[in-house]
Amino acid sequence: MSITKIEWADRVWNPVVGCQKVGKGCKHCYAEQLHTQRHKAYLRGKLQNIPQYKFPFEKLQYLTERLYEPYKWKKPCMVFVNSMGDLFMHLMDREYLYEILEVIGKTKHTYIILTKRAVNMMLMLNLYYTEKRMKPLKNLWIGISVSTQRDFEMSIGFLENTKAAVKLLSIEPILENIELYNYSSFNWIIAGCETGKRRRKAKLGWFFNLAEQCKKEGIPLFIKQMEVEGAVETEIEKFPQFLKIKQFCHKNPLGLGGGEKD
Ligand code: SF4
Repeated sequence: MSITKIEWADRVWNPVVGCQKVGKGCKHCYAEQLHTQRHKAYLRGKLQNIPQYKFPFEKLQYLTERLYEPYKWKKPCMVFVNSMGDLFMHLMDREYLYEILEVIGKTKHTYIILTKRAVNMMLMLNLYYTEKRMKPLKNLWIGISVSTQRDFEMSIGFLENTKAAVKLLSIEPILENIELYNYSSFNWIIAGCETGKRRRKAKLGWFFNLAEQCKKEGIPLFIKQMEVEGAVETEIEKFPQFLKIKQFCHKNPLGLGGGEKD
């Protein structure tokens, strides 16, 4: 199933699944929880028709049967790549990554890749463009995923030095107040609190601060969800007045908008 409920994408595409935790933001990883639940079901004799659940989440699996799926999608769409892992994991096979980038380059969709491994992203993407003697793909948006000030500071320089047409910053789950800088290094911010029963609280003040910084610097901000009166809210109408913000990226080389469903 590749259609998604994510507001800023039309589809997800997972030619790879599996990951290993790298930081505080990974503690309640949704992908890990979902995969582990299904892996346990597989071990109990269920879901036997879906071989990827034979293995635990920590195992990186290349789902080659999904590699060419984007060629089948007739209408250009926004695609979130690898919602069930991190494409720039240290174990990632370089030739397989290049195949994924080839598919991206040869199709008319716009692709978003987020990573918590900013240094790997910079090295692998820049090497690809250098080896292929190519300019950055116009339809590939790349971003770093951070949860803390430290994450931001450890990653922003690598994002700045990565070749990409559009760059974004995903702050989800936001775990503390984050002071931004190097604003010219990204074109869009997506932010949201943690979800799920064991979610760690996010203060409204952290969102206020982000909103103020984005407004001052002219960076579009998309607030995915926040906790309002003890419940996680995704609907903009329920957000506090100053935080009713779901802006899309202004820099959009192919002119595709997020959130347009098939
Ligand atoms: S990097 Fe992303 S996919 Fe991997 S464990 Fe952390 S949150 Fe999950």
